[in-house]
Amino acid sequence: MARVVIVSNRVPLPSQGAKAGGLTVALRDVFKQGALWLGWSGEIAAETATSAKIHNSGKLDFATIDLSEDDYQHFYVGFANSALWPLLHFQPGLLEFDREDFAGYLRVNAAYAKALAELLRPDDLIWVHDYHLIPLADALRALGVKNRIGFFLHVPFVPASMFGILPPAERLLRMMCVYDVVGFQARQHLHDFEDCLLSFLNIARQSGESISIDGRAVTVRVMPIGIDSRGFARRAKKAVLGRTAHRLLESIAGRAFMIGVDRLDYSKGLPNRFEAFGYLLDRFPEHRMNVTYLQVAARSREDVAEYQRLKRELDRLSGEINGRYADFDWQPLRYMTRAVSRASLAGFYRQARVGLVTPLRDGMNLVAKEYVAAQDPDDPGVLILSRFAGAAEELTEAIVVNPHDPEEITEAMHAALTMTLDERKDRHEKLFGKICQTTAVTYCRDFLNALAGTATSTDTLTSQ
Ligand code: UDP
Repeated sequence: MARVVIVSNRVPLPSQGAKAGGLTVALRDVFKQGALWLGWSGEIAAETATSAKIHNSGKLDFATIDLSEDDYQHFYVGFANSALWPLLHFQPGLLEFDREDFAGYLRVNAAYAKALAELLRPDDLIWVHDYHLIPLADALRALGVKNRIGFFLHVPFVPASMFGILPPAERLLRMMCVYDVVGFQARQHLHDFEDCLLSFLNIARQSGESISIDGRAVTVRVMPIGIDSRGFARRAKKAVLGRTAHRLLESIAGRAFMIGVDRLDYSKGLPNRFEAFGYLLDRFPEHRMNVTYLQVAARSREDVAEYQRLKRELDRLSGEINGRYADFDWQPLRYMTRAVSRASLAGFYRQARVGLVTPLRDGMNLVAKEYVAAQDPDDPGVLILSRFAGAAEELTEAIVVNPHDPEEITEAMHAALTMTLDERKDRHEKLFGKICQTTAVTYCRDFLNALAGTATSTDTLTSQ
């Protein structure tokens, strides 16, 4: 079997204390055959490296490169996170485009390509992850690399009218078409990608799963990412008996408990969610003193200015809500910006009557799946889910809301808090069935089969 080479912006280096994330766990069987994972070390050096440092870890080798401060600023803070991230999350007002940033983005991708090319074997399958690395296949081909290369976009894609705002839109689109396989989280993302293909490159997919461009076939497919649902369910059942979960249980003192778990990111819709909670206490006084909402908002990308503004906004809103509604023995909103381990989260989710997942846009949102997996099937909680999270295409038995309407979220909170046990069980059973069908393992298998060219493709697609 061919070796699999993963490329992502960061690598989960065991020496840096990285715990096995979803992708690592899902790829465990693949890694048994030997694999290579390349990405940024997380370190800043005097110059960006074009040769990787190798870290051996059993059958899985890690290869890392350091970035210069200048490249880090232009590539990571600049083009990736101040231009692509806001645009691909439908926030063109937050887009900051700068030609120097784009040049840095291309430069770092070229450095990744050079470092990787030195390590490749002829039959390696190369699997590239996410928006930081769109130009990588193009950079590898320029170095003469002939291997099969696939790309999976973890974030949403946008329609042509939105994508065209980005000055190098057409160039990026062409670079995506250099891959042999391009995977998306949701049908809507693929649909928007096709809208861009038609608009900018005059390529149409008529049926099936591949497009034809410059005489090559590119497989384009929806492959939603999942979690190890049964494993997470077992972990939650155990975690709820542990000390951390017990501390939480004591502190909520028999009240209903709602939870939100997100990175502190403007795409997650946190201000609207806080406002919705304020309205809940205002419009439905029966919930005062009777419900506690915990929001874990793990700090992220603190060197991007927009994230600092968001934090100030949330500090203000939480202060206002607690100042207005708290009593001497009840704090309605607990808001923390420290990250919580996934092990502890599993126990927290299980205790929560309501899981709040209301991003304005999200590629998938794994918290939604983790929340469902963690529930006690005999007394499950209710998931409130944004229709703009990729997960909403699958998890239709959640209470699905438009996250731009805080009052709709309020009504969903009230409905969830008052839902009968029968309805909760019915919804949960269906949701759990779905997250057991699309798992981390099925996701990796589908992608690698497509990349190896062993997946069946039903029809052909043509360029017009
Ligand atoms: N997470 C965590 N601790 C935290 C906050 C989040 O372990 O304090 C985990 C969470 O359990 C989930 C992931 O981070 O597995 C977030 O993934 P998601 O797809 O929801 O959002 P992303 O951060 O990728 O946009």
